Amino acid sequence: MYKFMRRIGMPMPKLLSYERYCFVAPHPDDIEIGAGGTVARLKAMGKQVSYVIATDGRYGGETPDMPVEEVIAKRVGEAKAAAAHLGVEDVTMLGFCESGWYDQNDLKKQVALAIAKAQPDFIFTVDHLVPTELHPDHNRVGLAVSDAYIHINNHHYMKELGGAAPERPLQGIAYFFTNRPNKYIRTTKYFNKQMEALMLHSSQVDQIPARGGGKKTMGEMFRLMTKIRNLRYGLRRCALQAEAFRVLSMSHTHVIPEVSERTLFGNY
Ligand SMILES: [Zn+2]
Repeated sequence: MYKFMRRIGMPMPKLLSYERYCFVAPHPDDIEIGAGGTVARLKAMGKQVSYVIATDGRYGGETPDMPVEEVIAKRVGEAKAAAAHLGVEDVTMLGFCESGWYDQNDLKKQVALAIAKAQPDFIFTVDHLVPTELHPDHNRVGLAVSDAYIHINNHHYMKELGGAAPERPLQGIAYFFTNRPNKYIRTTKYFNKQMEALMLHSSQVDQIPARGGGKKTMGEMFRLMTKIRNLRYGLRRCALQAEAFRVLSMSHTHVIPEVSERTLFGNY
């Protein structure tokens, strides 16, 4: 009975049913790794997709001989090329210095303004509440997007930030790189496209990690890891491959702790 009432009163958003989507990531390659198949599927469905990338990625990879300005420029180019390969032309780089050398309130403000400008129905970002996710940019960006999600439909709040609330109220949020997925998107047909886009981040994927002792490039490791992850999630939804998300509607996000409970059938 309770479950029935919960479904009626607080229905779970249907992830693919909206028109406009915004993906907000800490680093230039996160979206292709964590949700690239879903981006490719949304674009194939004719949806509007935009990216907001919070940091400049200056510490990603081992490039001791390259000036940091060149690293940043290279990563910006790679991010735009990878997005374009998936059909996404609207890419906003916020340019915060990678690895936490920025003010959280400033990040929160810039993220909210960028999302409001993109006017999405639905936003995607990284899950900042995964216990083993230690990267400060992932923790800070996931939190900043969550803050923005709570307040972005409020006209007074957005006006005080120097912007305006979106004309189309934001409907929901989905977290990728999550350990508590409750929604799955079948992406079998889009794996190759996702990997092609990921491989355009050559500053990252062409490296052979110094630690680990193997001879595989980061790209080969990412490809293997993503395939295994997608196959595992696909099994849960009778598909060959799927990507997994933690989805919350606006009504799930405040004073409803039941949403965090595990049920007999998995996460809420
Ligand atoms: Zn990242």
